[in-house]
Amino acid sequence: MVYATRRFEFSAAHRYWRNDWSQAQNEQVFGKCTSPYGHGHNYTLDVTIRGTPDPVTGMIMNMTELKTIVNGVLAAFDHKHLNEDTPYFKTLIPTTENIVRVLWQLIAPHMPGTIALARLRLYEMSDLWAEYDGSDNPTFSRVYVFSAAHRLHAPALSDAQNQALYGKCNNPNGHGHNYTLEVTIGGIVDAHTGMLIDMVALDQRVRSVLDTLDHKHIDREVSAFAAMPSTGEHIVRYLWDALSARLEGQLQHIKLWETKNNIFEYGSTI
Ligand SMILES: [Zn+2]
Ligand SMILES: [Zn+2]
Repeated sequence: MVYATRRFEFSAAHRYWRNDWSQAQNEQVFGKCTSPYGHGHNYTLDVTIRGTPDPVTGMIMNMTELKTIVNGVLAAFDHKHLNEDTPYFKTLIPTTENIVRVLWQLIAPHMPGTIALARLRLYEMSDLWAEYDGSDNPTFSRVYVFSAAHRLHAPALSDAQNQALYGKCNNPNGHGHNYTLEVTIGGIVDAHTGMLIDMVALDQRVRSVLDTLDHKHIDREVSAFAAMPSTGEHIVRYLWDALSARLEGQLQHIKLWETKNNIFEYGSTI
């Protein structure tokens, strides 16, 4: 099977609010998203299809046909207020997790018989998205950045061996990176909030872990790295252990960029 993805965009307003909750309860759970007239986003939707390329055209599906299907659905969302102008979010909170599932339900029935909708990834912002494959629940991902110095140096090797192995990265005083961390959460979408996890709580827990490295020299200031090289492999595993302990079984996958060229992943689904 081959997968192909086409990107779409739409702009829409929304508001998080439950009529059966008090104002205080709404504000406590949804924060600024309760703003009375709504706020908005430029949403990006990546639509991935799965199938066998046609032997004559070489395509799984004519992308023009896919564009017609998806744009036909998105026409009811683009430049609209999702709560007010669509029928889908009268009681359902228009979170990214809920919107991506509604879009799946609207797009999937239009797919031609032999072509499967493989997944939808809906970005609310470039650092916040939900992904759905038609199963019970979507996943939710968020991106964080921290900056740290480090030095690649293996205590078990001689200075000469370290220099030969790590080259510039063995510079005695260290060097540094803006590390980017993608955190993917699984679990069950809360029926009341429309969320897999309270984002304020997620941010606090992730930040509390990243703060152990942020603006530090990893090898010199973080005890876990006193005797092991601060490679991306070791840092991603250190982050996994610390994050999974704080996220009660909901952590599914993490992806760490040391630079744009060096990427490390760890998780329960890989
Ligand atoms: Zn919003
Ligand atoms: Zn480095």
